[in-house]
Amino acid sequence: MTGADRLGDPGRSALRRLRTTQRIVPQQAREQNRTLLLQTVFAEGPLSRAELARRSGISAVSVSDLAGELVESGLLVETGTQRHSGAGKPAVLLSVREDAFRIVALHLSDAVRFIGVVTDLRGTVLHRASVPIDGRVGEEAIEALLGLAQQLVDAAEGPVLGIGIGTPGIVVDRRIVRRADVRRWFDLDLAARVTERLGLPAYIENDGNAAALGMYTHDPEGRASLLGILLTYGVGAGLIVGGALVEGDRFAAGEIGHLSVQPDGPLCDCGRRGCLQRLVDTARVRERLAAVPEQERDGVLAEAGAVLGTAIAPMLAVTGVGSVFVSGPDDVVTGTFLGACRDAVRARVQPSGEDELVVEAVHDIEDLVLVGVSALVLEARLGLA
Ligand SMILES: [Zn+2]
Repeated sequence: MTGADRLGDPGRSALRRLRTTQRIVPQQAREQNRTLLLQTVFAEGPLSRAELARRSGISAVSVSDLAGELVESGLLVETGTQRHSGAGKPAVLLSVREDAFRIVALHLSDAVRFIGVVTDLRGTVLHRASVPIDGRVGEEAIEALLGLAQQLVDAAEGPVLGIGIGTPGIVVDRRIVRRADVRRWFDLDLAARVTERLGLPAYIENDGNAAALGMYTHDPEGRASLLGILLTYGVGAGLIVGGALVEGDRFAAGEIGHLSVQPDGPLCDCGRRGCLQRLVDTARVRERLAAVPEQERDGVLAEAGAVLGTAIAPMLAVTGVGSVFVSGPDDVVTGTFLGACRDAVRARVQPSGEDELVVEAVHDIEDLVLVGVSALVLEARLGLA
């Protein structure tokens, strides 16, 4: 990472908001205006109250009232005055106080350690910590992650807005890990466990979805839709269409690891043959790479990339999504792997517009998941993302 240790691009992330399906009832109007005002300052500040009224469409009287409330709560701060050529006294500018709150974000998908950060509201990393997993599963693994979360909250040196956690497995309602075989967690109310221990709201998301949210937040092109593929444990996917994360029935969208793509392929733990997970999982690809001479390595990578491309092509055709970001370790997601994946996609899917279908690699898996779950905390607690 260059420059400040920062998750994502703050300028970018400030402008992107996840679309929610909640309806606003009249008594929520004030709350909604408060959120809109905060969003506008977060994305476009520093701004004067008059400019804020103009950009948000909220009346000047309401802006003044709400801004006063937000300054008092410490979320907004007056940061000087605006020079202008006209007469009259200069306008006072309002900014979001980035250190008003901390966010704690955890990433549980690494094979050897649980990783966490403390950030400010803009994603600047103030503290990083990790704890070795050492093969722990079930209750012991929960204790390890709670210990890490506690350590981060203790290091936060400020009020913590909430805790976001990206984990392998199926996650329901941003709270319950329905199943994460690799950790031997089943119907685990992880959010409740975290809140019970730390007294803070917690938001849990599947790692593939969290990574997709991170990719969305990061994306310099500002695409509204994308398919994120996460190659860590098996194969995870997160789909964002029109700014909304697709969760699917039973929150199982993106669980593509046991999609059988080669009926006569190798037997998988699930009993099917030729599961995607069996064919393109990082560990499996590395096994095959280790078993072939140097000159055949590219062949192995191209084959794996083509299998992935073939599997995701129908997903792109159905959703009309034109951009795929593949996140995985550099020794697997190589130019050869990616090229084969892209070729397989382009050979199968008609692009919806003039632009070619995009298949690119993204790095910093760890940070993408952390960005994604931080965005969930910001959205859930302040209406920001
Ligand atoms: Zn399987």
